[in-house]
Amino acid sequence: MARPVARLGTGKGAAMDSQVRHILALSRRGLLRGGLGMAALAALQPGAARRALAQPAFGSNPFTLGVASGDPWPDGMVLWTRLAPAPLEGGGMPMLAVPVAWDLAEDAGFRTIIRQGEALARPELGHALHVELTGLPAGSSFHYRFRVGGWESPVGRTRTAPAADGSPRRLRFVNAGCQNYEHGFFSAWRHIAAEDDLDFVFHYGDYIYEGGPRGGQPRRHNSAEVYSLEAYRNRYALYKLDPDLAAAQAAHPFLPSFDDHEVDNDWAGPFSEEDGSRRDRPAVPPEIFALRKQAAFQAWYEHMPLRPSQLPRGPEITAYRGLRFGRLLEVSVLDTRSFRTDQPCGGATAASCPAREDPAAQMIGPQQERWLSDRLRPGRARWSLLAQQVPMLQRDTGADTPRYAMDKWDGYPAARDRLFARVQESGLQGLVVVSGDVHAAWAGTLLRDFARPERGAVGVEFTASSISSGGDGTEHLPATPRILARNPHLAFFNNRRGYTLHEVTAQTVTARFRAVAAVSHPAAAREDRGYFAVEHGSPALNPG
Ligand code: FE
Ligand code: CA
Repeated sequence: MARPVARLGTGKGAAMDSQVRHILALSRRGLLRGGLGMAALAALQPGAARRALAQPAFGSNPFTLGVASGDPWPDGMVLWTRLAPAPLEGGGMPMLAVPVAWDLAEDAGFRTIIRQGEALARPELGHALHVELTGLPAGSSFHYRFRVGGWESPVGRTRTAPAADGSPRRLRFVNAGCQNYEHGFFSAWRHIAAEDDLDFVFHYGDYIYEGGPRGGQPRRHNSAEVYSLEAYRNRYALYKLDPDLAAAQAAHPFLPSFDDHEVDNDWAGPFSEEDGSRRDRPAVPPEIFALRKQAAFQAWYEHMPLRPSQLPRGPEITAYRGLRFGRLLEVSVLDTRSFRTDQPCGGATAASCPAREDPAAQMIGPQQERWLSDRLRPGRARWSLLAQQVPMLQRDTGADTPRYAMDKWDGYPAARDRLFARVQESGLQGLVVVSGDVHAAWAGTLLRDFARPERGAVGVEFTASSISSGGDGTEHLPATPRILARNPHLAFFNNRRGYTLHEVTAQTVTARFRAVAAVSHPAAAREDRGYFAVEHGSPALNPG
């Protein structure tokens, strides 16, 4: 972990005093009166920061939240950290921009440093850093660290994606999410940290849960339900202090996305969970919910290794984006929350109603749909991965008449039909969808029309179980045999916590469902639960 290598000043107070003196000196020279002059603007640039900005001294480790890297491209990635000597109390940083040094090396001992630089940790972003690197060799591994005020961060490992026109022999990635801190320990993250040669970890969302403490659970949330930027920051900090999660984030590059709990349970586009459909809580108007989204998205951006182009603008964020791993795999990270119409038929699991059949219903919105449609065609990559949040497979959970979970793609069959029609019409082979959200593992074949199997299949879906949400779990639920019988396109169900490890070659995509024995205690062992292979051009699950 971080260690002090030098001490500057005598403590935080002394550093802030020196900063105040520095700013007063600038002000006396007239640079802060009537707008900033060129010299002051230059002083705010990272290159001039070493000379112009005093370094605060940290009485305690500012790297409590660890390090992460994300969105690997063929020539770079994002390196992330956030300075927070008092992580659960807003961060504990002086309200100043602080220059932070970073190193990128070939080796963990930093004997062969490839790149070095300095970036500003700004108070506007909670002193988070998103260092976007370019010009690095493709398909290569690196180590990185940050340095400030005599402290060094933990060392992270990352890698660039393969060359855009390259044909990697094999790719490996993990799909994981749903990590309710209260529900249990993150042993699954410890096992992900130990996975070899991962090209990336896709986090489908529910990185935090927004609720207050419930009591009677293995762990406890640190505040009431979160609404403000500072409360969201403190909630992310609570999660990031978990050593198993910190280890996984330092070990592999991540592809972050969000689902509902980064903001509010089951939100949909402009609508809060409290959309007037609940009797016990007052409705929240969209213009008020927008304020909460603004705080939530800023905190999400601050805590994820995202490119600066994903910086939210007010209550809006463009989190959907594309990545390539050579000619073998194209990844489309979707946002199934921001642009959807409200959940139909009351929003929970229910019988269908006319609103569910509305052909204008949206799951990803027209703009994202056009963007995705252009990517869903042959010739772009051998395999096309939709990395997204909620299950796409139809799951009729009724006992006699059909019932569907309206928060999933099952609540938006018209949007799903448009997507599947596009795949079938374009002739795209090799569509693989990954998802999560339901706190159990599922796998199955995506049929063009779930009521008419003779119309063929368009791809397969693997739904990862949760890291911790739902508690220890069981192998099966009483309703499982009935649900599998009613939905013959489903091939697998398991209700233990865990994640999915995928391997991609030109011929096959495999899914290994990895579980942990329990989340009610730390350091649970890893136990595999299911394994499937899909042959290119034949969207069916072959158990192994
Ligand atoms: Fe969840
Ligand atoms: Ca969710």
